Amino acid sequence: MSAHDIWSRAEVFIDGEWRSPYDGGRAEVENPATESIVGTAAEAGARDVDDAVAAARRAHPAWSAQAHEDRVALLGDWLALLEKSYDTLVDTTVAELGAPVAIAREAHVDTALAVLRAYLDAAAEVRWEERIGHSTVLRSAIGVAACITPWNYPLYQVLAKVGGALVAGSTVVLKPAELTPLSAYLLLDAATEAGLPPGVLNLVPGRGQVVGEAMVSHPDVDVVSFTGSTAVGVRISELAARDVKRVCLELGGKSASIVLDDADLATAVTASVQGGMLNSGQTCSAWSRLLVPERLLPDALAAAGSAAADLVVGDPRSESTWIGPVVSAGQRRTVSGYVDRAVAAGARVVTGGTGAPFERGHFHAPTILTGVAADAEVVRDEVFGPVVTVQGYADVDEAIDLANDSPYGLHGAVWSGDGGRAYAVARRLRTGQVDINGAEFNPAAPFGGFRRSGNGRELGRFGIEEFLETTSIQRPAHR
Ligand code: NAD
Repeated sequence: MSAHDIWSRAEVFIDGEWRSPYDGGRAEVENPATESIVGTAAEAGARDVDDAVAAARRAHPAWSAQAHEDRVALLGDWLALLEKSYDTLVDTTVAELGAPVAIAREAHVDTALAVLRAYLDAAAEVRWEERIGHSTVLRSAIGVAACITPWNYPLYQVLAKVGGALVAGSTVVLKPAELTPLSAYLLLDAATEAGLPPGVLNLVPGRGQVVGEAMVSHPDVDVVSFTGSTAVGVRISELAARDVKRVCLELGGKSASIVLDDADLATAVTASVQGGMLNSGQTCSAWSRLLVPERLLPDALAAAGSAAADLVVGDPRSESTWIGPVVSAGQRRTVSGYVDRAVAAGARVVTGGTGAPFERGHFHAPTILTGVAADAEVVRDEVFGPVVTVQGYADVDEAIDLANDSPYGLHGAVWSGDGGRAYAVARRLRTGQVDINGAEFNPAAPFGGFRRSGNGRELGRFGIEEFLETTSIQRPAHR
């Protein structure tokens, strides 16, 4: 298939078959670097959701009754086909998100495939059956999972949900983000080729308020797994509460990177800025707040400024590019609005700013801000763009207070020359993840948030368990 065919899609995938949505809806997909249309996707409606949920419901008994080893073997074939499509997956991520090709490989496709691989390995870690006193505790698939994903990591977000659900034995109705539906089509192509039984995985691309709400409100859906904004997470929780559906939410973040006074300042600041700006800052776990000892603030600002200014902004197809565009014109306006208001409130721009670096494309310069109060909008809200604030702290207790003083609690970082000291600080952070001294991502460890960052856990054994129910069977001890 040519790139044109791969990205010109207009169908939903329901019960093992591709067909047009009932009302024939189709949406265009823009390349945010060029502002040209690179593809299309179906725009499904509520009746398509009804069919998809019915197909998933029909497929559930047989899929969940299989031994988990058999499901894992079939999903392993899916993974192998995805590995074979590696270059197409990378090209698609570059085209629909504007991710620089090097980032698309490492942070998107490699990570997404690692997450699926880790799910397959973790199937053996789930306690499918255990004894507690005179009870036998059974874990069984919850049923039909509605999976709704955001645009920022199109492949990863889908596999972080669908991988766990399918290993658990649940069946899935998937709605990818409107802005980045093309990768999801590739995942479905590979799933069909791998021979996933009809109805086990269904795809209904479309609008959140139409397709998403129809999924969440559907009485035959047992669990909603949602990643996206906190506002939509709240709406989904309200809708799902009517049927007391389980809801797993992975929401926004405003994570702090704490540099302790014994850290290698240049290394810690540079890595923090890069982490804060990875994927043009459109990462829920981005370290968008950098906290440094007050007396080291001038040196830290110099290091942060040059780390941001050194990031190569440009054509995502170039190997040397590190920062591509943000995903849309609307996202660019949102990001620059935050920067403009911060400056109006007294923040100082260390580097970057809101001027457009190029004539075309939704690019935003990597921007470092300082002189921001702890209660400033830019410190409290998720910006979701390449913007990092730098604040000074008087002592470690204040650093921890500043880090924890956030409506969110998704991620964090601690940098120190003393691993034990860093660990002691990490343990005091009220957040779902903390990385010490740049430790790498673990695709098998639970990922999720505190407070307004959500209530779910994805990845590895914890991610599978989101899609399981628990039954305790008591037998008389002596009969
Ligand atoms: P969004 O909330 O606008 O949309 C996410 C998904 O929800 C999309 O598929 C959208 O169509 C759908 N949706 C929108 N309204 C809906 C409704 N009323 N009912 C059902 N579904 C609906 O978020 P976004 O702009 O796509 O993504 C950015 C946000 O996602 C950021 O806030 C970011 O922090 C968050 N995010 C969180 C994580 C995490 O794991 N915690 C990961 C990535 C992104």
